[in-house]
Amino acid sequence: MNASPHEFDFISHVRQRAASHPRLALGIGDDAALVRFAKSDGCLVTVDMLMEGVDFTIPPATARQIGWKSLAVNLSDLAAMAGKPVACVVSVALPRRGGFELGRGLMEGISECSSRFDVALAGGDTNTWDGPLVISITCLGDPVPPGPVRRSGALAGDWIMATGEFGGSITGKHLNFTPRVAEALALHHTASLHAMIDVSDGLAADLGHILEESRVGAVLDEGRIPISGAAQAAADGRTALEHALGDGEDFELLFTVSPTDGQALLKSPPCEVRLSHIGEITAGVECLLRTRAGHVVPLPATGWKHGFE
Ligand code: ADP
Ligand code: MG
Repeated sequence: MNASPHEFDFISHVRQRAASHPRLALGIGDDAALVRFAKSDGCLVTVDMLMEGVDFTIPPATARQIGWKSLAVNLSDLAAMAGKPVACVVSVALPRRGGFELGRGLMEGISECSSRFDVALAGGDTNTWDGPLVISITCLGDPVPPGPVRRSGALAGDWIMATGEFGGSITGKHLNFTPRVAEALALHHTASLHAMIDVSDGLAADLGHILEESRVGAVLDEGRIPISGAAQAAADGRTALEHALGDGEDFELLFTVSPTDGQALLKSPPCEVRLSHIGEITAGVECLLRTRAGHVVPLPATGWKHGFE
C-alpha cells in the first residue's frame, strides 16, 4: 500500500470485516450481490441519505454514531411497514482529507447495527471528494403476513397509538436510537394495524401523513402524549408539548388500530417499550388537539422539511 490509501484499500478493509450471512448468496467483491428472496410476494426496499452539516455535524456526532444512525433510519422505515430487514447496501462519499478513518468508524457503527438486527451487508459504493461526508444506505426487507402496513389504512373511530416517548431527540437519542423493528413485528402479530408510520419529521407532521393518505382527521389528547425527559428539560422558550409534537427524529412508531385491539394492546402489551393511546381518528379532515382544559384547537403540522431556495 502506498502512503495514502484509496477506494480499494477501504473496500478491502470493509470486505475483511463484513460478516457472512445466510441470505447472501454473493456478497462484497463482485459487480452485484445476490440476496436470497425465496418468497414470491416481493421485497420491501427503502433508502435514506444523511449529509454532514444537514443531518449531523462532527463533532458532536462520532463516525460510529453516524454509521449506526444511517442504518437505523432505514430499519425504522422497514419497521413502519411491519417488515423484517434482510440486507443493506451502503454508498459513501468520503472527504478526501481524513475520509479513510472516518469511513472505518462509519463501518463500525453500521456493523454494530447490522449484527444487532441480523441484517446482511450486501455491498456498497465508495467515492472520495472534496466535499463533506454523505452516506446513503438502501435496505431490503421481507414483508410479513398479512402484508405491509400502509399509511393509508386509518379508519374513523380508530385509536391512535404510539411507542416510546417524544421530543428532545436532538440532545442525543437521534444518534443512538433503537429502531422499533421487534416492536413493529410483535404489534403486527398481535393486532390488526390499520395504518403505521415511523416518526422522523415530528409527531404532528407524521400523523399528518397518515391523515392525508387515509383521508381522515384526528383528535390528539394533550394529556396522553408521552413526553420525553429531554423535552421536559429543554428550557428554550418552547413548551415540552411543542417539543414532543414538532421536534422529529424520535423514530418511534405511530399507528392506528380498532378500539378493541387498542384496549387489548394496553392490557397485554406484546413489547416492553411503552405503548400509549394518544387520540382518535375522526371522519373529518382536520387534525385537532384536545387540551388538558378540554378545549379542542387546531394542531399545526410543525416539523422538519428539507427546503429549496
Ligand atoms: P463496481 O465498480 O463494479 O461498482 P466497486 O469497486 O465499486 O465495484 O465495489 C467492489 C465491491 O465492493 C462491490 O461488491 C461493492 O458492493 C463493494 N463495496 C464498495 N464500497 C462498499 C462499501 N462502502 N460498503 C460495502 N461494500 C462496498
Ligand atoms: Mg462493476
